[in-house]
Amino acid sequence: MLTRNHFDDEGCPVSQNPTPRQLEPLGHAVPSTVPTHWYNLAADLPEPTPPHLHPGTQQPLTPDDLAPLFPMALIEQEVTQERYVEIPQTVREIYATWRPSPLVRAHRLERALGTKARIYYKYEGVSPVGSHKPNTAVAQAYYNALEGTTKLTTETGAGQWGASLSFAAALLGLTCEVWQVRASYDAKPYRRFQMEAYGSVCHSSPSDLTESGRAMNAADPDTTGSLGMAISEAVEAAAKDPLAHYSLGSVLNHVMLHQSVIGQEVLTQLADTEEKQIDVAFGCAGGGSNLAGLTFPLIGQNLREGTTTRVVACEPAACPSLTQGEYRYDHGDVAGLTPLLKMHTLGKDFVPPAIHAGGLRYHGMAPMVSHALNLGLLEATAVDQDTAFRGGVEFARAEGIIPAPESTHAVAAAIAYARTAESDGQSVLIGLSGNGVLDLPAYAAYV
Ligand SMILES: *Cc1c(COP(=O)(O)O)cnc(C)c1O
Repeated sequence: MLTRNHFDDEGCPVSQNPTPRQLEPLGHAVPSTVPTHWYNLAADLPEPTPPHLHPGTQQPLTPDDLAPLFPMALIEQEVTQERYVEIPQTVREIYATWRPSPLVRAHRLERALGTKARIYYKYEGVSPVGSHKPNTAVAQAYYNALEGTTKLTTETGAGQWGASLSFAAALLGLTCEVWQVRASYDAKPYRRFQMEAYGSVCHSSPSDLTESGRAMNAADPDTTGSLGMAISEAVEAAAKDPLAHYSLGSVLNHVMLHQSVIGQEVLTQLADTEEKQIDVAFGCAGGGSNLAGLTFPLIGQNLREGTTTRVVACEPAACPSLTQGEYRYDHGDVAGLTPLLKMHTLGKDFVPPAIHAGGLRYHGMAPMVSHALNLGLLEATAVDQDTAFRGGVEFARAEGIIPAPESTHAVAAAIAYARTAESDGQSVLIGLSGNGVLDLPAYAAYV
């Protein structure tokens, strides 16, 4: 029997973690191709990213404001201007189980498209949960454990983030409690099973376990939930428990930092190819973390060394925060408990339609990605769901990997570009943020 069926005095399930806390490196060799530092675009930006504001005072946040939610190491990373931040060896050891992730030339896709572009993809689906999210989950769990947190709370949509944090919590000896958007909790149980296998507890959100959840249920008993609602619940649960902290899988600066291992590896791996640079890079954008991870190191190189890589953020037409949203301060959650973030937003109360790419259903966009768009350092395009899946199927049939529904947005945009004459002779990079093996019902619905 899995470890989930333990209950507290009030009959709520309690997450159990049998793994002993292991924060010291185990001392095994880590290949030198696993990055030693995270890269921070803030050091190379021509103008600083606008600060996060306190939701009450509207003044820039202080470290003390964030201390109830995050460990100090992550609070420092949220505001650091240092170009490189050293990756703790324990985190590198865990990364080494799947990093460096492959950079693959998509020869068969090129042939299928008849393109004169050279297409590469950087494949994050080789991680234990099948996406890029563990890159930050492991780092966040590590710093929390180091500072004495025993439990992490978080929200999840389709479940990729909940599964990633559960994986990281298990390896680092933390318990983990996840609020999952109700629509996904009901329709997509497999990632919940994954979370439970790792020892976490997963609640359907809005739940009756928090004040904000009870208020949202009272306002609309039939709500299908949203990420914004689930965030309110997870933040409230962490704020009320002195041994618990909250963990966010995207959007915040420290998450962009941790994900930079992706693009840094690309730069190293390119040295073994004929390419001097990537000409155009496509990444899907929900909260912005895989896009930032893949492309901020390339944008940094543009700014420092004069390379001319174009970066295209690919978002769903159904949740178009970058292409249709306003660039202004907004809350990250529905209840307004989180700091105000300057971002491209559709409004905190926006409930996106139930598209298959659950990871792209967020009303806002990372402040750093929003700022980079505003500065003209990247471009954005919206892709509709049918076009995205058509691209995903084309990719699967040529290359064999079934892309995550989120990743298909980048795949489809790259395919469309590779079909144009403009791409002749260019190098094109696709951020393949995850695989779609647990999302096959979405493919079945399309095919
Ligand atoms: C969560 C997720 C995304 C979207 O999140 P970002 O922060 O925008 O990266 C994209 N792809 C996959 C596979 C995901 O799991």
